[in-house]
Amino acid sequence: MKILQSDILKKFSKLTHAFTNKDGGVSKTPYNSLNLAFHVKDDAENVESNHTLLSNKLRYKKDSLIYMKQVHSDIVHIVDEDDSFENPPTCDALVTDKINTPLMVMVADCAPILFYDDKKKVIGVAHAGRAGAFKNIIKNVIDCFINYYNSDAKNILISIGSSIGKCCYEVGGEIYDETKKLNIEYAIQKIDDSYYLDIRKILYSQLISHGVDEKNIELSNECTCCNTNKYFSYRSNSITGRFAGIIMLK
Ligand SMILES: [Zn+2]
Repeated sequence: MKILQSDILKKFSKLTHAFTNKDGGVSKTPYNSLNLAFHVKDDAENVESNHTLLSNKLRYKKDSLIYMKQVHSDIVHIVDEDDSFENPPTCDALVTDKINTPLMVMVADCAPILFYDDKKKVIGVAHAGRAGAFKNIIKNVIDCFINYYNSDAKNILISIGSSIGKCCYEVGGEIYDETKKLNIEYAIQKIDDSYYLDIRKILYSQLISHGVDEKNIELSNECTCCNTNKYFSYRSNSITGRFAGIIMLK
């Protein structure tokens, strides 16, 4: 199993983290092979096996993993006693200061985002596609770190994994109109009569405007839709698996 590690997160010995890709699982086409999502009509036993393989690789207890029923919202959830592998919360971001509690965000084109404050020992994950970016889920996560854990935004480290690039994200005129209403039309590139949306540019700008230091932001420029041999991509094939970003305090 080939996982990816973040340059800004890997130096912390009390932190486990990774971005997965398609490699190293047991699921069959079109979920081959490390699909981590139960809701995409893959064989549940294979998904379960994939979670076991990943938990062995990263050395956490599979049943301690908290993932999300993601709904393209801006809802941030602080992990509580009701959350479990069997009972994932409905939200698009998770935050916790609990140790040995891995958090997971699953994606196929949307951006998987990992957050870490080493001073306060708080971690978070977020799922941001167009809806999450337009609703500014980034702001809600940063606010959660500040309001519930007394974080200083300047100390929060952010790693954004691979997601769809503007190269493959053509959108209609109604989306362009929406960006104008939200004052984020800088994220649209017009080529001839077509519009291309740059989600990463929005996320980066939101992080900066909420006080995150640019040196603490790591942003993958790999496009999932251009690299379907490596990543699941919903735009490329709507019947597909999900890869993940994971983070855990030890
Ligand atoms: Zn692309």
